[in-house]
Order: sequence, then structure tokens, then C-alpha cells
Amino acid sequence: MPSTTSIKLDLSPLTPAYDSILELVPYQTGKPVEELTREYGVSDVVKLASNENSMGCSPYVTLAITEQLGNLARYPDGNGYYLKQALADFNNIAVEQITLGNGSDDLLDILARTFVSAKDAVIYSQYGFIVYPMVTKMQGATGVEVPAHRFGHDLHAMRQAVEDNRNTKLVFIANPNNPTGTQLAHKELRTFVASIPSSVLVVLDEAYIEYSPDSNNRALLDEFDNVVIVRTFSKAYGLAGLRVGYALSSANVADLLNRIRQPFNVSRIALAAAAAALADQAFIAEVRQTNQEQRRWLEKQFDALGLAFIKSHANFMMVEIEDAPAVYQALLEQGVIVRPLAGYGLSGWLRVTVGVAEDNMRLIDTLRSILSND
Ligand SMILES: *Cc1c(COP(=O)(O)O)cnc(C)c1O
Repeated sequence: MPSTTSIKLDLSPLTPAYDSILELVPYQTGKPVEELTREYGVSDVVKLASNENSMGCSPYVTLAITEQLGNLARYPDGNGYYLKQALADFNNIAVEQITLGNGSDDLLDILARTFVSAKDAVIYSQYGFIVYPMVTKMQGATGVEVPAHRFGHDLHAMRQAVEDNRNTKLVFIANPNNPTGTQLAHKELRTFVASIPSSVLVVLDEAYIEYSPDSNNRALLDEFDNVVIVRTFSKAYGLAGLRVGYALSSANVADLLNRIRQPFNVSRIALAAAAAALADQAFIAEVRQTNQEQRRWLEKQFDALGLAFIKSHANFMMVEIEDAPAVYQALLEQGVIVRPLAGYGLSGWLRVTVGVAEDNMRLIDTLRSILSND
């Protein structure tokens, strides 16, 4: 496998715009099923590595996509009229307050490019989502990582960090947080936002909101112009392969984001699919219910195996395992893909996505046999 990190960039006359770009390490994604089949010859692969929805997506999505297949020669609607209308109704918000993204990663990038320059600081938590330091360093800005409190965001320390770094422009908070699954209480979050200067943007990443409706902080947008909420169709809606996300903000912020956004950043198929997926809330209710049951089942199994885990509010769990890298590898060789967390400084842990019953049983059976063999 070619290693991008081994290239001696410092010897090249082609230096990047900012030195901080040299600190970036290419994002480690969950191993694709196809790659495992290719490398180990395992055909019956279970992937519980990227918090995707093992239940797939709403059946209405297929229908909406089929309807678009005759129109692929035409550019998508650059304003995403129908999807934005549906999102405005769904979130009880004005269309002018919505920005669409090619997945929510695209929006995190657009936010950084719109608001963060090389002289600014960006604040995020230890064990926070890895894309936050990425987009910060891309701008040549200073990333301030605030130590976590019991694996979650320490809002008091983050507030102090904003005060200590007068050049703070933006704060990233994932709620629920990935990879730890922790969640912040609404009241605590509101107090935090109220204590932050209005010149600092607070970005709430709600990628897992459908799994934990009580972590919905939509109400903050009515009160604070410096709050942005970022959501995605990749997780509970089961459309990770299509790349659609959206941001809710004040109309002013949305106007700026829409200047930076590429005009056709969401494809014709993705726009139609997301609108169909949003309309099928019965599917989301079923997904939420199944996830709750299966997460509880996994908790019981981990207890029985004597493995510690962090109580999760999303569709994944962090499990503490002695020699996690070896167990990750052993699982891989038996066709079960989970996520090692060394890149997050959590080398003694694995993150497993909560799948459907069959996937979870396979994970536990395989894990049990690995752990009893050593
Ligand atoms: C998965 C994830 C995202 C990115 O999702 P997209 O597929 O780019 O929409 C963003 N934030 C968090 C916390 C995530 O876990």
C-alpha cells in the first residue's frame, strides 16, 4: 500500500500554503468491505466501523432516485429548492437559514473557510471528531484542544479556552460526540453559548441527533445568531454513500456560507433522495427503536464479557479492550470490521457501530472466541 506520510514533503520546492498542512495526516476511514474481501479473501463481511445504518435507508429513496435517472445530463438545482423547503418545514425555520453540503464534512470545511484565517484560533475537545483539527489546520489556524472530562466535552474548560485565546473565531462541539457517544445536557449547553462572545461562532455538530432527539438544540438558533447546527443524512437516514448534509444558522451566516459553497455541491440524485428520506419519519422511528434495543443488547454482552464501555447516546459504542489493536486485527481476519481509535489517542479502545441483530451477534460471537483464545 502506498504511504502518503512517508513522502518527504520538506524536500520539495512545492511547499503548502501553511506549515500546519504538514501536520495533517490523511483521514483514516473505516476499511471498506471490498478491501477486506480483496486482502483476506473473506466474503461474509460485517462492517461496524463507520456508524452507517445497517438497516439501509427508506424504500422511498430508491423510488426518488429512479425518477432522476433520465435527468442526469442536467445540473442539479444549485439552490436545492425542494430539499431546503422540506428542511425548513421539518425544522420550523426559514429557507434563508439553511445551507446544503456534500455531506456534513463539506459544511465543516465551508465553515472553516468562511470564518477562520491563519491568525485565528479554533477550539475543540480532546476525543472530538477528527475533522475539526483537520479543517482548522487547512486554514493555517491554531487548533486548541481542550482536555475531555470523563470522555465528554468539558464546557467550563472550553469557555476558559475561549477567554484565554482572544483570537478564537470558532468552537466545534459534537453532540452526541463521536467517537465517545457522550451527550451534553441542553441547559449546560445553553449556559455555555450564552457565555461566549457573539463574535465567536459555536458550531454544534448533530450528526447523531436522530438517535437522541433530546439532544436537539434547534431552539438555540432563535436566541443566538452565533450558533450553527450541522446535520447529516449519512447516519440514521442511511445515505452515507450519497453525501448530503445541511447547516442551520442565522440568515446572515447562511448568506456567507452560501458564497463559499461550490454552486453544485449536492448532486441531483442526492437532493431527491434526501427529500424522500426526510419525508419518511416512520423509518427513522423504527431505526431509533432498533438502535436502542440493540445497544442495550450489546451493553449486556460486553458486561458478560467483562469489558468496560462508555454509555452511548448514538449508534455506536466505545469498548475498552486489552490489546485493542491485536483484537481489531483478529476481528478483521474473521470478517468483522470495527474502528481502532489510536488516531484519537484512545489506543486501548475500539469503537463498534450498533448494527442489526445479526451483525451484533456475529461481532459478539467472534469477539468472545478471540478473547477466550489468549
Ligand atoms: C459521521 C460524522 C460526520 C460526517 O458525516 P458526513 O457523512 O460528512 O455527513 C460529521 N460529524 C460527526 C460527529 C460524525 O460522526
